[in-house]
Amino acid sequence: MKIICIGRNYAAHVKELNNETVEEPVIFLKPETAQLQSRMPFFIPDFSAQIHHEVELVIKINKTGKHIQKKFAHTYYDEIGIGIDFTARDKQTYLKSKGLPWELAKAFDGSAPTGKFLNKSVFESVQHISFHLDKNGHTVQQGNSSQMIHSIDKIISFVSEYFTLKKGDLIFTGTPEGVGSVKPDDILEAYIGNEKLLTVKIK
Ligand code: ZN
Repeated sequence: MKIICIGRNYAAHVKELNNETVEEPVIFLKPETAQLQSRMPFFIPDFSAQIHHEVELVIKINKTGKHIQKKFAHTYYDEIGIGIDFTARDKQTYLKSKGLPWELAKAFDGSAPTGKFLNKSVFESVQHISFHLDKNGHTVQQGNSSQMIHSIDKIISFVSEYFTLKKGDLIFTGTPEGVGSVKPDDILEAYIGNEKLLTVKIK
């Protein structure tokens, strides 16, 4: 399986990092080894002094697809969950300044924990899903899929022009504003609506 991530998909987050908005979705990949086994803590890697949390809605692909038309994109996923796109922001800032790819800052081991997935039928509309992240009991990020610049269906259609999607692939759909650093002993708890679906302890 592969993990496909969308960058700069919420306007307020684009602003907080002083990034430019671009017309096409910003795409990067994480390997299978970026998954974090459930209940395992996240260990801050030695190469970074600034690991940021980015809470994101995550789509689980349910069948193989290539050149998926936007109008059929909804048939390629049944489940939506929540995950954290851990980012070595210091490393990413350096790589961006040199015009280099982001993988070292984004794709490292354990950088893509995901929680329990929900069947999309529980939502009235996938375009109005609220989610948030608590750090040590305080809400630090809040978002709603209605604020996405590129919708879930658009993302699936766009990505499938480049990569064949396969059952089990995950798509991280971008983070809202409020990203920030984590330190040892922090507890991150991610929610869709009022339901807590993911807990990550930082070590
Ligand atoms: Zn992200």
